[in-house]
Amino acid sequence: MKPVRFAYERPTDLAAAFALGRREDIAVKFLAGGQSLGPMLNLRLIQPELVVDITAIAELKHIEEKPESIVLGSCITHADIEDGRVPDVTSAALRRVACGIAYRAVRNRGTIGGSVAHADPAADWLSALAALGASAIVKGESGQRGIAIEDLIVGVFETTLKPGEIVTGVEIPRQSRAARWGYYKASRKTGEFAHAIGAFMHDPERSVCRAVIGATGSKPIVLTDMQELFVGRVPKPEAMSVQFVRQMMGARGMGDDIEQKIHLAVLRRAIAQAHAS
Ligand SMILES: Cc1cc2nc3c(=O)[nH]c(=O)nc-3n(C[C@H](O)[C@H](O)[C@H](O)COP(=O)(O)OP(=O)(O)OC[C@H]3O[C@@H](n4cnc5c(N)ncnc54)[C@H](O)[C@@H]3O)c2cc1C
Repeated sequence: MKPVRFAYERPTDLAAAFALGRREDIAVKFLAGGQSLGPMLNLRLIQPELVVDITAIAELKHIEEKPESIVLGSCITHADIEDGRVPDVTSAALRRVACGIAYRAVRNRGTIGGSVAHADPAADWLSALAALGASAIVKGESGQRGIAIEDLIVGVFETTLKPGEIVTGVEIPRQSRAARWGYYKASRKTGEFAHAIGAFMHDPERSVCRAVIGATGSKPIVLTDMQELFVGRVPKPEAMSVQFVRQMMGARGMGDDIEQKIHLAVLRRAIAQAHAS
């Protein structure tokens, strides 16, 4: 199948993109790497009248290093991160995640901002960035806001983005040298979308301990406090409070026993990886 006919614009600045994106008389879609949008257009799951390609906007490829964080422009590709063209503030955590996304052709074009805005629960960046404590920077004609990744995502392919708003970047906290990271993606074949994700980051110097249960069929489940996850004990896999995690999953509607067990096992592996790192 082929897409329905649509008009195409490629603005070179954000103001022009906002103006096109907020048009109410026609259905408009932003295009970044096209790795998710393309298949949806081809299957006619979406039928926009105007596609606004945002990849010529220089600001969206900008990288800003701050003392406590780094901001990656939303059009930075998975391959940019995989190849180390982006400074690393996470002791290679980002790079390891990027390498596991799909295959090289997808990584060459797919972008970090597109992945976040698309909000596929099985996407690697949603879980990984939530575990790293990252925020999306969202801009529109009415201004700018920073929003935690887990708060931007509402559900399957659903975000709090308003019409015409663009994810311009992702802000990722700088990890200390003592930080430990684990990421485990369970998929049938290497590079496929995950059917369960566990992500874990413990940075004792910053008093941060975050765990994420991802690819749940809805938004990622984010556990932000070591006390609740390990009942105050050393964050080792065997010290994880299985009861607490299962309660969290149950509260989010993951009632199926098998599904809960798979996600528990995957999270345990992520914690074990972090512990061994
Ligand atoms: C075969 C295949 C396998 C894949 N496997 C994986 C995988 O294992 N793991 C994984 O995480 N992903 C996987 N993907 C998805 C891939 O990572 C995509 O690149 C990503 O989901 C979307 O990024 P994109 O830049 O291509 O966005 P696009 O496809 O261009 O856009 C996706 C959606 O986001 C919107 N959008 C894009 N950018 C912005 C922005 N800056 N602001 C606001 N809205 C925006 C678009 O309007 C559209 O609705 C796979 C894709 C393919 C085709």
